[in-house]
Amino acid sequence: MKRKVVFVCSYCGSEFKTEGECRAHELSELSISQADYEEFCKLRTALKITESNLRLYDEEKTRKAYEAAKKAMSEFEARTMPFDKWKEI
Ligand SMILES: [Zn+2]
Repeated sequence: MKRKVVFVCSYCGSEFKTEGECRAHELSELSISQADYEEFCKLRTALKITESNLRLYDEEKTRKAYEAAKKAMSEFEARTMPFDKWKEI
């Protein structure tokens, strides 16, 4: 028996063979450029890393790094759309 995977657009239900095609379609659905999506992924990763570092070592250096990551994300959100919207992608 073989299993077939289909990727479905969260917004219109269109089906795709690959995750990449589906992601590209969803981004176009939301009028988001690939570059903005990639930037969002980087900022989100930075936020997660600096947040977990802060939990491990609560000191000035980790606090500053976390605050900088939060600031970068909020500036990005102001330029594009709120983080909650991004999480749906
Ligand atoms: Zn769609």
